[in-house]
Amino acid sequence: MEIQILGAHQFESKGARLTSLLIDGNLVIDAGGLTSALSVPEQEKIKTVLLTHHHFDHTRDLVTLAANAGYYWRGQVVVYALRYTLDIITTCLLDGKMYINFLEYPSKEKPTVILEAIEPYNKKPIAGYDILAVPVKHSVPAIGYQITSSDGKSLFYTGDTTSGISDQWQHICPQLLIAEVAGPNKYGEELKRAGHLCARLLKEELIQFRQLKGYLPRVIVIHIGNPFEQEIKKEVAQVAQELEADISLGYEDMKVTF
Ligand SMILES: [Zn+2]
Ligand SMILES: [Zn+2]
Repeated sequence: MEIQILGAHQFESKGARLTSLLIDGNLVIDAGGLTSALSVPEQEKIKTVLLTHHHFDHTRDLVTLAANAGYYWRGQVVVYALRYTLDIITTCLLDGKMYINFLEYPSKEKPTVILEAIEPYNKKPIAGYDILAVPVKHSVPAIGYQITSSDGKSLFYTGDTTSGISDQWQHICPQLLIAEVAGPNKYGEELKRAGHLCARLLKEELIQFRQLKGYLPRVIVIHIGNPFEQEIKKEVAQVAQELEADISLGYEDMKVTF
């Protein structure tokens, strides 16, 4: 399985894209900084997008991907998410008011974007993978995804989440964990209230993981709060040392093969 981090940040600026992951060149999870990270032929391979939740920093490039799919190669993209998330995408992002309604373009019968609701805890074959969605705590309804390839390799991506993600460890068994750290330890309580993690809070969840599963997978941290990147980097390195684990920050265009 090859994971390419298209966007590793919470905010966008030159060199820092919004959260988005590409699996084996064809499956996307979250569509923050998606289209600016890939050439048109690379985008053309994307047939499936999984969304963790509806926040703009995770869904924005659905619009730009749909525009390319609709006009360049006249293809279709299937988007999976919670029904709640899809309803907001339909009424706020792809409603046809600010841009084209890609749920009906070029025709209602064969639209560019197809929406499919996903049920938590219901393992489903999607795009050649076994996909398991589990609910995670955030400020809005959100899910994390375990993605398992046919050769048994497994990734779990938390999406945006906060303390309590450990409730879901019993359901998953990944070799790679991609988690979020949106800010530094000094804002821990604020981050928790906003539905995010700092390194210290992530550490508590990882301790639970190890206690329950007897191992810790490699951990890559994304959704990095840009203004605090250096502080987050130090604090994550500290946690890695304390837990004697492989935990590091992700970055734009980083590729991980396992
Ligand atoms: Zn969010
Ligand atoms: Zn976010």
